[in-house]
Amino acid sequence: MTRLETFTTNGHEIPIVAMKGSPRACGVQYGRAVADLIHGSLKAYLESFRVLHGLERDVVFELARRFEPAIAEFDPATMEEIEGIAEGADAPLEAILTINARSELVHGLKARLDDGCTSFIVFGGMTADGRTYVGQNWDWNPAMKPNAVVLDIQREGDPRILTLTEAGLVGKHGLNEEGIGLCNNFMLSDKRRFGMPVHVIRRKALTARIPGDAIGAVLNAERALAANYMIGHADGAGVALEAWPGGLDIVHARDGLLTHANHFQIARTDREDIGRDIFPDTLLRDVRLHDLLSARRGRVDPGVLAHAMSDHFNHPDSICRHPNPNAREGQGIETLGCMIMDLTERVLHFCSGPPCEGDFAAIHMDREPGRIAVANYREAA
Ligand SMILES: [Zn+2]
Repeated sequence: MTRLETFTTNGHEIPIVAMKGSPRACGVQYGRAVADLIHGSLKAYLESFRVLHGLERDVVFELARRFEPAIAEFDPATMEEIEGIAEGADAPLEAILTINARSELVHGLKARLDDGCTSFIVFGGMTADGRTYVGQNWDWNPAMKPNAVVLDIQREGDPRILTLTEAGLVGKHGLNEEGIGLCNNFMLSDKRRFGMPVHVIRRKALTARIPGDAIGAVLNAERALAANYMIGHADGAGVALEAWPGGLDIVHARDGLLTHANHFQIARTDREDIGRDIFPDTLLRDVRLHDLLSARRGRVDPGVLAHAMSDHFNHPDSICRHPNPNAREGQGIETLGCMIMDLTERVLHFCSGPPCEGDFAAIHMDREPGRIAVANYREAA
């Protein structure tokens, strides 16, 4: 067995799983490479379902099985890959479906779970080098942090993808070789139904060759939950897709800048934004980030971005989020990592843990062994 490539940021060693070939072969390679972390993800989510909903493993697996035919119809290649992951990790198919439908299983069961994430797209005259950057702070349950992996996916017939995700998931935040980048913000509307898991939709969007098709992947999905999809392109473009079950609105970047948090920016009368009742800090975070970045117009680079993402206004529920002592059991979240993706040069900069404390590793899509650089951008800001 070849040694797994890894990189280290803030003492956290994260594997890079290289997958190549047919969908099934890619899945098997993924499952074999990080089987222990995939089982770690499963264990953490099963524990979360038990604490939040009182559901045991057999019931969760029964619910997860319902997603199989829907995924197979929406994205057959990704369903084959999920089967391969199960085979490679020596896990039941329901286990991998459980991980990929974890948002729908957590939130679809009416949990009032705290959630976070603040994201940005900057390009053109906003940036010092004219490049396009897309990124976010990843705010989530700290039990999931040890299971972070980077996937380098070269599935036959599809563009190459670099994505940072939780072991077992088919995708999350990432970029592809065509210059498309994707970030995500959780949102909550009063509309919920059985439908496509957000992580499967994200993977399909990341597999697009042109930005219009990435938008189409979100638009045409039978979505189960609300979410914001931030889609940027290396040519200098960015949109936020505010999607919910049954509808979608689009917010365009203005003057090369777009920020988003966990509430709908477009008000409507036909759906209620219930997320902001649960995490009212969202109403501060997107505007705060917009102000911080627009003040640096023409000078934004990874250092400025890392500095802005380290902001502590409204601490601990800030852009850089820290543990809140008042969180209920199993519902506390914090910034597990910060991602800054350079779509022009196809580089994923990642800091494990809150960016106020850490160093970033720069992972080039066309990297050679040993080419991963670690830098402290805070000093440069
Ligand atoms: Zn911080």
